[in-house]
Amino acid sequence: MAGEDGNLSLVLRGPGDLQLEQRPVPKPARGEVLLGMRSVGICGSDVHYWTHGRIGDFVLTSPMVMGHEASGKVVAVGDGVKDLKPGDRVAIEPGVPCRTCPHCKDGRYNLCPDMRFCATPPVDGSLAQFYCHPADFCYKLPENVSYDEGALLEPLSVGVHACRRAGVALGSHVLVCGAGPIGLVCLLTAKACGATSVIITE
Ligand SMILES: [Zn+2]
Ligand SMILES: [Zn+2]
Repeated sequence: MAGEDGNLSLVLRGPGDLQLEQRPVPKPARGEVLLGMRSVGICGSDVHYWTHGRIGDFVLTSPMVMGHEASGKVVAVGDGVKDLKPGDRVAIEPGVPCRTCPHCKDGRYNLCPDMRFCATPPVDGSLAQFYCHPADFCYKLPENVSYDEGALLEPLSVGVHACRRAGVALGSHVLVCGAGPIGLVCLLTAKACGATSVIITE
């Protein structure tokens, strides 16, 4: 890691055009924390944007920092942040909703139509040395959870969601199609839910 005078960031400028750029270190706004990034996964979506410059209706139209599966250490806190302090280790929930629409008010903020999701155009991601994020979308990691494991919590949540949707419970028999990273977190979650047998294709 360099000092706080630079912020080396992985920027996608267009399909196949990925560059390391020195960007300014951001300042945390009210309610945000500045994080020194420690671990950032590479998602299938990052690869899609890199190879095609788009995923469906989400089209890269200006340079964008990659990455959304991430963990880091709190370096500074903005005004009003009470639950985190410098030195805290956190995992990041990368989708920040509007907080005011009917879905958000209903507690189903994952459905918010105005979600700002890291590394989904035009929102910058977190594959940088420093990155700001709302404090209430950062989750403290216990001592026994590593930064790499922290970065894997976002993909793990996909497995948890899938198993909930499928109603996986004690005694379930589960077939997972595909043993990539998301298939593997589905397998781990299904076992943790008590599935009797889990079969995975590859
Ligand atoms: Zn992802
Ligand atoms: Zn909303």
